[in-house]
Amino acid sequence: MRGKTSASLLAFAALGACVPQASPPQAAAPAPAAAPPSPAIMPPPPALPTAPPPTMQYLYGSGEAAALSIAAYRSLTDFAQTQVTKRPADSVILAEGSTLDAPRFEACGNKPLAAVFDVDETMILNLGEEWHEASSGRPYDGKVWDKWEKTGADKVAPVPGAVAAVNALRRMGVTVIFNTNRLAENAAQTAAAIKFAGLGDAVHKETLFLKGDDTMGSAKDGRRAVIAAKYCVIAMGGDQLGDFSDLLNQQGMSVKGRRDEVSSSWASRLWGAGWFLLPNPVYGTGLKGGFDDVFPKDKRWSVPAEGAQP
Ligand SMILES: [Mg+2]
Repeated sequence: MRGKTSASLLAFAALGACVPQASPPQAAAPAPAAAPPSPAIMPPPPALPTAPPPTMQYLYGSGEAAALSIAAYRSLTDFAQTQVTKRPADSVILAEGSTLDAPRFEACGNKPLAAVFDVDETMILNLGEEWHEASSGRPYDGKVWDKWEKTGADKVAPVPGAVAAVNALRRMGVTVIFNTNRLAENAAQTAAAIKFAGLGDAVHKETLFLKGDDTMGSAKDGRRAVIAAKYCVIAMGGDQLGDFSDLLNQQGMSVKGRRDEVSSSWASRLWGAGWFLLPNPVYGTGLKGGFDDVFPKDKRWSVPAEGAQP
């Protein structure tokens, strides 16, 4: 599954009008013996989008997004190199029983080192399926996504910087593990997409963890616990908060509450230092909120009236 919410909010162009033209005056003619049947009046089909939405232009087409991704992956590999040298006491995976007020981290002991990554829009760009959405004007559909998982392995591309990062990590002796909400029944096809993108081998339940491996649905903490029992996880990469901890992704959290937890709690110390976020303005849990959620009341501004003094 790509994400909980689709945000490919494609605005359809105005419907093309089909206006009958007035006939020029003609000389009266004898009426035909029988009038031809009237064609059925059908509404015109909606116009297809003529360009991808701005969010896709940014993520899949822009140099700006590529630069952000490369920077995130460079930070991750630099951080991993320092951790390999010093062997941290704790994983960057929260221990079972943690709360937002009392977080604890899994101990590393002598476990081998690993880095854990989400897949979609973290390690690979789903160009084929997103092209389908953008060009057809159709929103995200779980059934279509399932077909994409099954058949789209050769229509993906690596996120900029991802291939260099996994290669560098493996050279350091760090095991690269994928933890994605793609479906367990499509494990072979997802491993093929990862391989096609140049990210190497992924083995189900060893270095590839999927939705359906446990009974927790899209929540990833259970799979993270399985990984942390075997590995000392020194870095995680993702494009959604749920790629790091389900505590930050709880149902009912307000937009502001979520942002506050990320910005001002213990979690703020992990961004760029164990937890590495990739940009994704196209879909996902970050795309919600009304005006009151997004714009504080004391920061609203209007154009001053002409002649008004500052
Ligand atoms: Mg993702």
